[in-house]
Amino acid sequence: MSTFPATRLRRLRRTDRLRSLVRETRLDLADFVMPLFVCPGEGVTHPLEGLPGIAQRSVDALVDEVETLAALGVSAVLLFGIPEEKDEEASGAYEEDGIVQRALRELRLRFPDLVLATDVCLCEYTSHGHCGIVRGEEIDNDASLELLARTAVSHAEAGADIVAPSDMMDGRVAGIRKALDAGGFSHVPIMSYAAKFASAFYGPFREAAGSTPQFGDRQTYQMAVSNGDEAMKEIQLDLDEGADIVMVKPAGPCLDLIRRAKERFGSPLGAYQVSGEYAMIKAAAERGMLDETKAMWESVTAIHRAGADIILTYFAPDLAEQM
Ligand SMILES: [Zn+2]
Repeated sequence: MSTFPATRLRRLRRTDRLRSLVRETRLDLADFVMPLFVCPGEGVTHPLEGLPGIAQRSVDALVDEVETLAALGVSAVLLFGIPEEKDEEASGAYEEDGIVQRALRELRLRFPDLVLATDVCLCEYTSHGHCGIVRGEEIDNDASLELLARTAVSHAEAGADIVAPSDMMDGRVAGIRKALDAGGFSHVPIMSYAAKFASAFYGPFREAAGSTPQFGDRQTYQMAVSNGDEAMKEIQLDLDEGADIVMVKPAGPCLDLIRRAKERFGSPLGAYQVSGEYAMIKAAAERGMLDETKAMWESVTAIHRAGADIILTYFAPDLAEQM
């Protein structure tokens, strides 16, 4: 084995061109997905305090926003809905003219080439803010499955290219696959939030989606941060149930699991750089503590280097502007 002074790794770091020649990780704009929040009303753009630069938008304003994103080259979005009313059974999640369904129809019509993915969950639509149906103080897994499947089918009917269940109920991928196939949507892929942790980094999202649980927390269905083997099991199960893309969430705190999943399963792998990861960089930059642009690039490069093929991030437009 050759050693110093024959080996000098600095030789290839001497100029920008040389560094670029040997760059191992390159980012492609086509791999980024921009999360968007759609709310009722007209002409509404409601900026979110915890997510600088991100807003809830009514369908018409959302169309303008997507126009801008498309012009920047962002080719995929993930829709979250904020309904007019919430109830115990999350009916806003699956009704034909629900908020996401309306947004989908409008966007489908105007942007035929845009990849339209939808978050499939009940928490934005339930009065209690949990991701499933509540019986007493418990989240009823099996009762929630049917509503999640109905939600996914209604999204497919309205024009979704991908449905993305984020609820973490057991068996939801199989249930959704079965319902999609029965409804004539065997061509619609499922991107499952397979390893979704009960993370503190979701903080700002709760304001964005208006989905803070009214009692308890989500630890009975989301995973414990301490468990990596269990994350592999979750991913395996979702793939067995028919998931086409599996996701790890949050991304930054789970780089090791992204790598393990990539090496072990070899399926298309997504990672969600969540609201708190985004907000941390924004807040620190605002206070002059770090360089926002550099920190943004470093964070998404690390996620991609770890093994994520698809990166869901609120930085998508900022990244696109510089690509
Ligand atoms: Zn949820």
